[in-house]
Amino acid sequence: MTDTRPVAVIGGGLVGICTAAYLQRAGLPVLVIGRQTARDAASLGNAGCINGSSVVPVAMPGVLWQVPGWLMQPDGPLVLRWRYLPRMAPWLARFVTSSRPERVAAQARALRSLLGPALDAYRPLLDDAHANDLLTQRGYLIAYSSREGMDGDAGGVALREQNGVAIDTLDANALREFEPTLSPRFIGARYIAETGHTTPHALLARLTAHAVERGARIVDDEAVSIETNGVQAVAVHTRSMRHDVRAVVVAAGAWSARFVTQLGDRVLLDTERGYHVEMPALPAMPSRPVMWAEGKLFATPMQGRLRAAGTVELAGLHAPPDWRRADLLLRQVREMFPQAGAASADSASVTRWQGFRPSTPDSLPVLGPASRVPNAFYAFGHGHVGLTAAASTGRAIAALVAGERAPLDLSPFSVARFR
Ligand SMILES: Cc1cc2nc3c(=O)[nH]c(=O)nc-3n(C[C@H](O)[C@H](O)[C@H](O)COP(=O)(O)OP(=O)(O)OC[C@H]3O[C@@H](n4cnc5c(N)ncnc54)[C@H](O)[C@@H]3O)c2cc1C
Repeated sequence: MTDTRPVAVIGGGLVGICTAAYLQRAGLPVLVIGRQTARDAASLGNAGCINGSSVVPVAMPGVLWQVPGWLMQPDGPLVLRWRYLPRMAPWLARFVTSSRPERVAAQARALRSLLGPALDAYRPLLDDAHANDLLTQRGYLIAYSSREGMDGDAGGVALREQNGVAIDTLDANALREFEPTLSPRFIGARYIAETGHTTPHALLARLTAHAVERGARIVDDEAVSIETNGVQAVAVHTRSMRHDVRAVVVAAGAWSARFVTQLGDRVLLDTERGYHVEMPALPAMPSRPVMWAEGKLFATPMQGRLRAAGTVELAGLHAPPDWRRADLLLRQVREMFPQAGAASADSASVTRWQGFRPSTPDSLPVLGPASRVPNAFYAFGHGHVGLTAAASTGRAIAALVAGERAPLDLSPFSVARFR
């Protein structure tokens, strides 16, 4: 008798939807359980870069000495709500040990194996969903406003190059010619041609609509628990009902930890909260995403608007947004692009957003089967790179669900590293 039970994917962000798409390509029936109306999914508000070169973990050697300096500056790229510190202590302790040079090298290699094929993994999904118009490939710029910033980034540049990323260095004049919209305050840049960019909320909407056309069921509800029979996952309970399943994929972003505990595993997952501001088109738009290295924010052209996204706020899932972080992004993007001041002068035309990066302390997502429940799979924890990694994650996880080998070595991403 054929098994008509679906594979349930918990979470309808980009990771969940790309996984659903690859499951459908493998001929499997899919049920996506996601809070469709929530606006705080990282997939909706990110900087839009599909950036296979993002192999530099957040915890780099020396980070421990940089963090106090960042925390002392109210306008720094990192803020911590001190009341949250005790909750985050185990995560932070692991973050520090992850910054050891040999670990960083291994994490970067693992990231490259997942992120390098990002565009290749997206292509079939974009073809299927007639969504190629949503992908632009003009590379991206890392722009520096100080000599110290440019020199201080040498470690990250070396790590990228060791992993096969081609980087061009531009001096101030070359930068002016290449991206004339940028302020003359930038003294140089590094250009990475392999990067693409998109409008992430439009991409998610298009892929979701296509999954539905292809027969996926989308349930707008909160998954509460995964029921097992002691050996296998047999059902997912939502607030309103029980769904029989043949397998389950946990892709609930920053909210995934509760399911890991239910399945008998341990994980260190927290959130690096991020913000964006978005404004109408400048008279002359940048042609590609630009990251201001010192401020750690990205400015990305998106369907005729300019989005500035970034900042890391360590404050957990429940604290209210601190919109001063978004105001800071607005000030910074006006410094990056002189024309942004006029474009954003009417505050009603500027939108603001806050959402939750799903972050592990070693910057690697958790991918692969649950340790004790072989038909339950993890696909979460992508931190700063989940838009990039969503399709290659989906391709790998769908292969496992279908009983095939994943196209990359998933051992560095195993949940077992948190035992
Ligand atoms: C400011 C910012 C800029 C970024 N820029 C980039 C970038 O340029 N490039 C890049 O690659 N990455 C970027 N990222 C990271 C990227 O956005 C995330 O890693 C990625 O979106 C994570 O996707 P996800 O599907 O795992 O999680 P999410 O997008 O958060 O989706 C998880 C979904 O699961 C749902 N959910 C949670 N719990 C339940 C439950 N119990 N039941 C049902 N549904 C549930 C949530 O509501 C949500 O819809 C950025 C992130 C931020 C915040």
